[in-house]
Amino acid sequence: MRLVFLGPPGAGKGTQARLITDEYGIPKISTGDMLRAAVEEGTPLGRQVKDFLDRGMLVADDITNRLVQDRLVQAECARGWLLDGFPRTVGQAEALDGLLRERGERLLAAVELRLDDEIIVRRLTERRVCPQCGEIYHLTSRPPRRDGVCNQDGAALVQREDDRDDVVRARLRIYHERHGPVEGYYNRSGALVGIDANQPPEQVHRAIIDALEAARQQQAYAI
Ligand code: ADP
Ligand code: AMP
Repeated sequence: MRLVFLGPPGAGKGTQARLITDEYGIPKISTGDMLRAAVEEGTPLGRQVKDFLDRGMLVADDITNRLVQDRLVQAECARGWLLDGFPRTVGQAEALDGLLRERGERLLAAVELRLDDEIIVRRLTERRVCPQCGEIYHLTSRPPRRDGVCNQDGAALVQREDDRDDVVRARLRIYHERHGPVEGYYNRSGALVGIDANQPPEQVHRAIIDALEAARQQQAYAI
């Protein structure tokens, strides 16, 4: 199963991606996570992209395309994958399609989580994440059992640099500028599935599962 998750920052892509990858046993590949890890480790790539991440700006296509390409050819991706936060531009979507074509593979669906901006700002400014295992929390809707501490491994939770109010607004502006053509791209290919993300996580999950099963049946029928 090969999937991409689209949608504004804060729509719940990471939260839902975890549930889906656990359920279907495929790896979650988040370009945001890979870039943040590079920054954290201080690699040459990390030094190159740090300023872009801090300001909520998109990193150049050739960088993200290479990251994704290197990852998708690894053995763990042979049975499928879920891309979270990629593609964000038409150039990235075309690069992914090229890669799929070369390998004789197909995308099952481009799942787009849809949510209004005011709700997004509240979700992101109250988001906290575990730097060790990546678990995602929210101060009001999904608080950890102990204040500031990860339920899974006891690590101290952190707020992402780019979840500050001003950076969140910049990220949303960039999202609105760039996303329309990507949505159009997947709409034309027939892969786009829109999901109302303004529901409790379990209901969003159910809606995604239903849409994926429908897409599977449609694809089987088309073959
Ligand atoms: P994204 O990966 O799209 O940026 P996240 O999955 O990190 O989004 O979610 C952003 C914030 O919103 C997190 O704090 C998360 O706990 C919270 N959240 C995710 N899904 C929901 C939901 N359906 N209802 C309420 N809060 C949610
Ligand atoms: P995310 O974790 O998906 O919210 O991404 C965090 C940041 O990483 C973004 O604000 C960008 O700076 C960068 N980034 C992640 N994915 C991409 C991508 N596909 N294209 C360009 N920049 C990206």
